[in-house]
Amino acid sequence: MNYLTYPLKKMNITQGYSDNYSHKQHNTGEPKDYPIDDNGGTSKKEAYFYCPCDEMVVKKIYGVGTNVGNTLWLESTSLVITPTFTDYVTIIIVHPNDSDFKNLKVGQKFKRGDKIVEEGDDGKATGYHFHISVGRGKLIGTGWIKNSNGIWVIRTNNGAVKPEEAFFIDPNFTQVLTTKGIPFVKLYEDKEEEDNYWYVTESLNVRIGPGTNYKCINSLPKNTEVKILETVGTWAKISDKEWVSKNFLTKTKPSKIYKTLKTTATSLNVRKSPNGKILSTKAPLMQNTTVAIMTTRGNWVKINTDRWVYRSYLA
Ligand SMILES: [Zn+2]
Repeated sequence: MNYLTYPLKKMNITQGYSDNYSHKQHNTGEPKDYPIDDNGGTSKKEAYFYCPCDEMVVKKIYGVGTNVGNTLWLESTSLVITPTFTDYVTIIIVHPNDSDFKNLKVGQKFKRGDKIVEEGDDGKATGYHFHISVGRGKLIGTGWIKNSNGIWVIRTNNGAVKPEEAFFIDPNFTQVLTTKGIPFVKLYEDKEEEDNYWYVTESLNVRIGPGTNYKCINSLPKNTEVKILETVGTWAKISDKEWVSKNFLTKTKPSKIYKTLKTTATSLNVRKSPNGKILSTKAPLMQNTTVAIMTTRGNWVKINTDRWVYRSYLA
């Protein structure tokens, strides 16, 4: 399957498409595009852009020898599958240096996983990185167009798309350091990740440290799925400051599983029923507490037997 996957071996997005003034200028005017900057997890010039689908062709090279950031247009030679569409894609890459661009020619083709170009700092770049924009469809016209903010944005026959709408993350290829909050979708759950999932065997206290002497801050119902980040003796760390006894966790996947969310409010009341009596045991919940989603009723979520919280404060 010709999936479009993230083109760097390490994802370390330093600026998302709405993180700074210059990127916002791309998508607050008309037409728009959604650039990201990724330094490949290194401040040195060592990351490569790899061909992210079965085949791409170089359509245009611009800026060599000028003070404008060097810009490269790549187009897929067949339809690609993304998390949101199936179509051709065109990708703009900015900042590779002149010395790396001289090895590229219009019409040159690359197969999935081939190194296409190294990151650079050409133009007004602060540090070595790739500035990447994606368009759905084939390049049209000159491949870019000035938007109403006076910024050059990608021009393709089906318009610019956000990076998370375009790229899957292939966990076997890309190690994710930071997404800058962009909600990328994985091609599949990686095996290693699955191996870290455990299931609660009976209602289980959650403590702020590895031992019964630590304060109990919440409880998780039987069949809650948790991920073990670290173990200390018989205690398992399930988030930055949440520990549970490993004696009540199993690898055996139950037929019914409760997924979890995190609390977002500084302090979140727990109630005996939807909008019912406020409880004081293992409550209120502090921010970033893991809660199980057993069932929802209107705006209320059941997190354990006789424990309910307001849905808007979970993410
Ligand atoms: Zn940029």
